[in-house]
Amino acid sequence: MDECPRCQGSLETLTLGNVSTIACPHCGYADIPVDHEPTRATPESWYEAFNRFYDQHADEEADTASDDS
Ligand SMILES: [Zn+2]
Repeated sequence: MDECPRCQGSLETLTLGNVSTIACPHCGYADIPVDHEPTRATPESWYEAFNRFYDQHADEEADTASDDS
């Protein structure tokens, strides 16, 4: 049986349709890729990247537009 990496308790297997995952009933640990901890760093960089892309794209479109006409 699997042990919880957080509290070493016994993990439970949860089955949802044909998808099964393990979760710890003791501390709430769940073996799913979507967790609040790993995604904490992403929003900032995503936001930055998006803004940069948007700026570049806007510049490019303005350039192409003036070049075309
Ligand atoms: Zn646990």
